[in-house]
Amino acid sequence: MNKGKLIVVSGFSGSGKGTVMKAIMEQHDTYALSVSVTTRKPRPGEKDGEAYFFITDDKFQQMINNNELIEYAGYVGHYYGTPRRFVEDNLAAGKDVFLEIEIQGAMKVKKQYPDAVLMFITPPDAQELRRRLIGRGTETMEVINERLKRAVQEAEGVEEYDYIVINDILQECVETVDKIVKSEHNRTDERISLIQSIRSELADSQGK
Ligand code: 5GP
Repeated sequence: MNKGKLIVVSGFSGSGKGTVMKAIMEQHDTYALSVSVTTRKPRPGEKDGEAYFFITDDKFQQMINNNELIEYAGYVGHYYGTPRRFVEDNLAAGKDVFLEIEIQGAMKVKKQYPDAVLMFITPPDAQELRRRLIGRGTETMEVINERLKRAVQEAEGVEEYDYIVINDILQECVETVDKIVKSEHNRTDERISLIQSIRSELADSQGK
């Protein structure tokens, strides 16, 4: 079985990347979404183990010490990290594993997994981004302002990404992401062994 691909998805807070991830997971069973650990408190309606595993600072530190995280980063006063086990088990089982993480974490992933595919999801324009950030209604004005400020920094390093995908119409965005992943599986370095086996089979049959 072929090994799965690691797909890193980042984007402005309010880009709708979480909704895109949810939809793509519902529509495809060859994909797995990594659930991060975080020290931030759950928002209303967020259940432990779904969007995140909500853990204490001590537990987070312990996971770092035990090398249980592929990467971690601070974001607006809290820590977020990707548990190693889930990612490696699913890649080995042939699933494409999606990480929805911010840019600093994405860069660390790229160093450890050079074949990872990095996608940055963005709304079509700044006005739409503002509207979505304010419209979510789950944050105080103080947090929104903090996130708007952060949004400006959030795209720093985006040149390192392989793809920038616009999320205007959700289903179109989901399909674009899916096509990118499928195309990545057709890269020469992934398919070369197929060509080699075709060639050697042809060569063998010529000899008979
Ligand atoms: P939120 O608090 O809105 O759920 O997430 C804040 C930011 O942290 C988002 O940009 C999200 O993609 C990012 N994030 C979530 N999990 C991780 C993780 O495991 N590692 C890193 N580096 N960033 C993460």
